[in-house]
Amino acid sequence: MTRLAPSPTGALHLGNARTFLANWAMAHQRGWGVLLRVEDIDHPRVRPGAVDQTRDVLTWLGLHWDEEAPLQSTALEPCIEALRTLAGKGLIYPCDRTRAELAASAPNEGDGAVCAHASLRPPEAGTPYDSPTMHRTWRLLVDSGHEPVLDAFRGPSKVDIAGDCGDFAIWTPSAVPAYQLAVTVDDARQGVTQVVRGDDLLPSAARQQLLQRHLGLPTPRWWHLPLLRGPDGRRLAKRHGDSRLTRWRDGSPERVIGLLAMFSGLTDDLRPMDAATFASAFSIDRLPPHDITVTPEHLAWLDA
Ligand code: GLU
Repeated sequence: MTRLAPSPTGALHLGNARTFLANWAMAHQRGWGVLLRVEDIDHPRVRPGAVDQTRDVLTWLGLHWDEEAPLQSTALEPCIEALRTLAGKGLIYPCDRTRAELAASAPNEGDGAVCAHASLRPPEAGTPYDSPTMHRTWRLLVDSGHEPVLDAFRGPSKVDIAGDCGDFAIWTPSAVPAYQLAVTVDDARQGVTQVVRGDDLLPSAARQQLLQRHLGLPTPRWWHLPLLRGPDGRRLAKRHGDSRLTRWRDGSPERVIGLLAMFSGLTDDLRPMDAATFASAFSIDRLPPHDITVTPEHLAWLDA
């Protein structure tokens, strides 16, 4: 089982579409089930209508899915259970300072030491969900050392979690799980065995593996795919021109898919393509291993 896990925070853009199409094509070729899971907790502001718009754009692209998970924000109990498990093992502590404050105040101390003034009473079984205990940042203790990550596309690598981010947040003051905990718990309970996503999330795979070990959950197979970037080398974003899929939503998706097919090594030139053709022609072995630059000419071709 794989999952399409959009965040309904802004309209999906070309980069999201490339990852979703590749994920969906691999599922089609390898017989994986496809779960849609709209991740509405990893950002505080979800615009009204954004969830429906996310589904609409995926359907417009020609993607479909076998199941839809409940919205993350409506099914928090398993994450609360996981928080209690980690608390019971003494692996988390409350810390309401931001990472910037931590970095500024205590260059020689671990985050745990900086936050030692905080009450270290973990959320026990039966802690009311609306209690002050739940309205805090809870951080996971991270040991030094490198976490090996075996990625089916990227190969093996090692991530220095302590150096990258230190004790990372798994729970937020809004009384909802942070992304790392929510995704770890949901992937396991929803039977996700394949995770296909942008390789900006490779460091997160290491953090998720740590949580999986602490919680006794399986590690899915990781496939972290290269990103689309703007001509300045930065991750594709508004500053590079509007690459949101809603821009082309009134027409056919075939130019969008055609461009993404060329970026995925399926064609040598620009020509329209539908999702079914993409799904049959896609080959993970032909996917260029480097990031792709999206130019104003590419966007102009989509507008034509
Ligand atoms: N919801 C996340 C995003 O849109 C994806 C997280 C994941 O694939 O693990 O960036």
